[in-house]
Amino acid sequence: MKESNDERQQNVDEGIQKAVELMRQGATMLNEACPECSGPLFQLKDDIICPQCEKKVLIVSDEAEVQEIEKEAILAELDLAICTQIETLIKRLDKENDSDELMGIGRLTILWLEALEKLKRIRS
Ligand SMILES: [Zn+2]
Repeated sequence: MKESNDERQQNVDEGIQKAVELMRQGATMLNEACPECSGPLFQLKDDIICPQCEKKVLIVSDEAEVQEIEKEAILAELDLAICTQIETLIKRLDKENDSDELMGIGRLTILWLEALEKLKRIRS
């Protein structure tokens, strides 16, 4: 059994060496543990790596986080589009004298403001 223990120790040592190397490259140690060897995981840029297994690891919560970021990006785009619409309406409001037209612009502005408010609620 001595041999296999030595081998195990060697693997751990290699893992530590690789971890040090990862940290030197700017990786940070995560709170998550590797699902295979339960060693500490490291994040380097977008990759999560287990130095012990020499593998990239996908963490489910991160996947959900990515989706959340994508969703937020879409909502931010929508927010911007609505603001642009309101801006256009304000410019029209300045030039408009016809009361019917003014009423229409006013209604549209309120609609967009309501949309903006709902969006704000979704994003918070
Ligand atoms: Zn591992």
